[in-house]
Amino acid sequence: MADIKVSIASPIIEEEEINAVVEVMKSGMIAQGPKVIEFEKEFADFVGAKYGIATNSGTSALHVALLAAGIGKGDEVITTPFTFAATGNSILYTGARPVFVDINEDTFTIDPCKIEEAITDKTKAIMPVQLYGQAADMDPIMKIAKEHDLIVIEDAAQAHGAEYKGKKVGNLGDMACFSFYPTKNMTTSEGGMITTNNEEFAENARIYRAHGSATKYHHDVLGYNFRMTDIGAAIGIEQLKKIDGFNDKRIENAKYLNEGLADCDLVETPVVEDGYKHVYHQYTVKVKDGKRDALSDYLIENGIGNGIYYPIPLYDQVLYTDMGYNQSLEVTDKTVKEVLSLPIHAKLTKFDLDLIIEKVKKASKEL
Ligand SMILES: *Cc1c(COP(=O)(O)O)cnc(C)c1O
Repeated sequence: MADIKVSIASPIIEEEEINAVVEVMKSGMIAQGPKVIEFEKEFADFVGAKYGIATNSGTSALHVALLAAGIGKGDEVITTPFTFAATGNSILYTGARPVFVDINEDTFTIDPCKIEEAITDKTKAIMPVQLYGQAADMDPIMKIAKEHDLIVIEDAAQAHGAEYKGKKVGNLGDMACFSFYPTKNMTTSEGGMITTNNEEFAENARIYRAHGSATKYHHDVLGYNFRMTDIGAAIGIEQLKKIDGFNDKRIENAKYLNEGLADCDLVETPVVEDGYKHVYHQYTVKVKDGKRDALSDYLIENGIGNGIYYPIPLYDQVLYTDMGYNQSLEVTDKTVKEVLSLPIHAKLTKFDLDLIIEKVKKASKEL
C-alpha cells in the first residue's frame, strides 16, 4: 500500500489544549465539574441558543435529546438514510422507529418535499442531518413540523459554525446535537453537546444524562451516565476559541479545490445554496461515469487519503434489513455510488491542495 501523504482528517491540538488539560489534571476535579459548565455556556452562546448540555459523545447527545423530547416505543422519527449509523441508532435506542425519507441530489440533505408523505399518526419528530457541514433546508422543515405538531432535532454533529439564512446551526430547530469526535471540525477527544432554547427540554436532558436524577439519589426515570469530563471540556473551551479560524481555513481550501477542479470532467464539486454557510466537515464531490471506486483507489495509490461517506444507506444495513426494512429511495441509492470526500481539513498546505488537484485531474485522463 502506498504511503498516505495527505490525510483525510487531522485534529489540531496545540499548546493551549495541552496546558488546559494539565491544569484540570492538577486541579483534582477531572470528572464533570466547572469546566463542563463553562463550556456549555460558551458553546450555547456560540450557536445563539439559551442552553447547552454537554455529553460524552455526539451519539449520546442524540439519544438524550430524543428522550428529553419524550420520544420512545411506538413513536416514529423521520430522518435521512444518508448519514452515519449514529443518527438511526439513537432513534432505535429509545424504542422508536426511524422512517427514512429521500435526499436532495445537490446538497445530500433530507428533501423537505418528501417529508409530508412519510408522516403518520405515530410521527413525533423530524431529525434532519446537517451533512458534511451544510444545513438542510430548515424553513420548510420547520413549517411542516409546526403544521403537524412535530419536534425537530438537528443532527448537527458535522456542522459546528454552519449557518442557514443568517442563523447558526444548533439554533434552527427545537434541539440540536453536536459531536466533538477528533475528526469533527472541533474536538474534546470524545464528546457531544445538545443546544436548545427550550427550558423543559434542557432540564430533561440534564436528568437523562445523569441516571435520571434531578436531585441526588432520587431517580424518577431510567437515565444514563453520559457525562462529559472536565478534561474534555477544557479541550473544548480552547477549540471553541479557534473554531471560526478552523472553519475559515476549510472554506478557503474548498474554494481552492473548486477552482482547481472546475474544468475536470470526472468530478462535480460541492453545491452550496444561496444563504448557506457550509463549513466543509467534508468536501464531497460526485464522481461521474461509475468511476467513484476507481478514483478512490487511484488516489490512495497516489498518497491522497479519501473517504466514502456513506457507502450504504441505513435502510440497506443488515441491522435494518433484519428488522424488516425493505426500502429503496432513488436519489439516495444513486448518491451512495457517486460520492467521494477529499481532504479539506485546516492543516492542509497549498502543496497538499495542489497535489490533490493534480492527482484528480490525472485520474480523469487515465481512468
Ligand atoms: C459523528 C456523528 C455522530 C456521532 O457522534 P459521536 O461523537 O461519534 O458519537 C452522529 N451523527 C453524525 C451525522 C455524525 O457525523
